[in-house]
Amino acid sequence: MSTETATKAVLKGGEWLVKESSAAETFVAEQFGEEQLMIRDMCNQFLEAEVYPNLDRIDDLEPGLMKSLVTKAGEQGLLSTSFPEEFGGLGKDFVTSTIVNEYLGAGHSFSVAVAAHTGIGTLPILYFGTPQQKEKYIPKLITGEWAGAYGLTEPNSGSDALGAKTTAKLSDDGKFYILNGQKCWITNGGFAQVYTVFAKVDGDKFTGFIVDRGTEGFTQGPEEHKMGIKGSSTVQLYFQDCKVPVENLLGEVGKGHKIAFNILNIGRLKLCAAALGGARRSVTDTVNYAKTREQFKQPISNFGAIKYKLAEMAIKVFVAESALYRTANWVDQKEEELLAAGKPFNEALLGAAEEYAIECAMLKVYGSEVLDYVVDEGVQVHGGNGFSAEYNASRAYRDSRINRIYEGTNEINRLLTLDMTLKRAMGGRLDLMGPAMAVQKELMSIPDFGAEDETPFAAERKLVANLKKAILMTSGAAVQKLMMKIESEQEVLMNIADMAIETFNAESVLLRVTKMVEEKGAAASALHLDIMRTYLFDAADKVNKAGKDSVNSFADGDELRMILMGLKRFTKAEPFNVKDARRRIADKMVAEGKYCF
Ligand SMILES: Cc1cc2nc3c(=O)[nH]c(=O)nc-3n(C[C@H](O)[C@H](O)[C@H](O)COP(=O)(O)OP(=O)(O)OC[C@H]3O[C@@H](n4cnc5c(N)ncnc54)[C@H](O)[C@@H]3O)c2cc1C
Repeated sequence: MSTETATKAVLKGGEWLVKESSAAETFVAEQFGEEQLMIRDMCNQFLEAEVYPNLDRIDDLEPGLMKSLVTKAGEQGLLSTSFPEEFGGLGKDFVTSTIVNEYLGAGHSFSVAVAAHTGIGTLPILYFGTPQQKEKYIPKLITGEWAGAYGLTEPNSGSDALGAKTTAKLSDDGKFYILNGQKCWITNGGFAQVYTVFAKVDGDKFTGFIVDRGTEGFTQGPEEHKMGIKGSSTVQLYFQDCKVPVENLLGEVGKGHKIAFNILNIGRLKLCAAALGGARRSVTDTVNYAKTREQFKQPISNFGAIKYKLAEMAIKVFVAESALYRTANWVDQKEEELLAAGKPFNEALLGAAEEYAIECAMLKVYGSEVLDYVVDEGVQVHGGNGFSAEYNASRAYRDSRINRIYEGTNEINRLLTLDMTLKRAMGGRLDLMGPAMAVQKELMSIPDFGAEDETPFAAERKLVANLKKAILMTSGAAVQKLMMKIESEQEVLMNIADMAIETFNAESVLLRVTKMVEEKGAAASALHLDIMRTYLFDAADKVNKAGKDSVNSFADGDELRMILMGLKRFTKAEPFNVKDARRRIADKMVAEGKYCF
């Protein structure tokens, strides 16, 4: 497939739920251009040469090692892909920087250090810094000469980040902000040179600051002993009458939340990318183990129970990748649109990421849960060896777990998915009302038995359209019934978020495979068809279950019966032999000795 960035009317954030997407306009990983593939290969080579031989030394927190690896990655241009050329960056698009996050994502603790450095450690200054701050910090950060870190979390404020207690007060001579307080869980904290730190000015004005290592009154605690990502530096930061020069104020006083939340949108999508990189490596490891480990006089990969696991891992990875690059390209397109409208580069990318904040939250949840599934089944396929520190499966398992916790826990991101969608609908940014009413009308009417659509994938497209109707029906009923109380009915919100995640994924993989078939034919894409059909078949049941759990909790009588009937109708999938499909998917990977989709 050729590299192209479609610039036709791009869907707005959340609009996938109420509008159809076309395969032709959907960006897929098969469209990576030559340069993007070269950058991907550089990431793989870097991990092979510099990281994998040193995993134990990294996990032992050997002094100076992680910083030297970050610097080396910087020297090879891996930290600067999407940074503007005026600061020495490569000026590439968002898809390209997502590729870097994905492929370096297989680097265990190293990938955490790099992702934190290039993301939360550098972007706040790039997007919110003054020209002088950018000039001082960005060139050194993107070459890896300096490492960056980000201090938001405190012992008593994690998910509730704005509840921070760290204070900042302008000194009497007006030259410094005096910071007092404590931050915890700070990635790269042990070796960073530059920290973006949040504190409240005059008691309540949440504000960002740039704090340099060595600033008077700024110290760090020892390294945390963690369950996983043991090689990633994580420390507490202490501020005791810490004198931060006024020129290190980041953005405006009282506008720190803009920095904190905007950066998180990008971070969530990038976390999905990194999780995907880790998951792909784990699938390959597991396939190879299953291929060589013999029990009952045959490789365990011969057993259906193992084939199921291998195939399911691959399906989840392929689906996550489909949703990820579909969204990353939307961000690119939106950014271009905003730049063309005259927005400066920082407002353009932040605006683009904010537009797709709903999708970023869903990707964060799904990507981290795919990785957890893959590494968990990876250990299982390894049997006792999976429990041994000798095998990479155990490291992958331990390193995965954090992803459901940081960048907003998965609970918070599930809640945000629906919260942001409803707020956009109420604010007039997203028309949910019209489509929701149409679904209600459809429910009351006799099903349409008109002429069958015989175009390719008509049944799959209908299923995805119906899953969207299931979401609109369930969420519409929940909003009507629960009104303002909906915010405290978190179980309902989580159910609907799960329906949305499944449906967004289902549509993303359907569009990708449709595009592949259109380009290469059905025979060449047979296993991708298996992946897509298996995912859709399962998604229908998951949407049905989440919908039922939700609606049973707030509806009753005729209304409940009507919605349950609607759920049954909208989640009806054509029969499909998922067992045989999974066997074909697993057999192909075993033959190739790797994840190969
Ligand atoms: C290894 C590691 C590295 C980290 N790196 C950084 C970093 O570099 N910089 C930084 O600033 N922070 C960092 N963090 C902090 C991380 O972002 C927080 O741990 C995370 O946001 C969760 O906050 P918490 O730990 O206080 O959990 P809590 O907020 O106490 O949450 C505990 C549980 O309650 C749930 N919960 C909380 N509020 C709600 C709600 N309203 N509704 C429903 N459920 C809720 C959560 O989902 C979670 O399951 C890191 C953490 C770790 C462990």
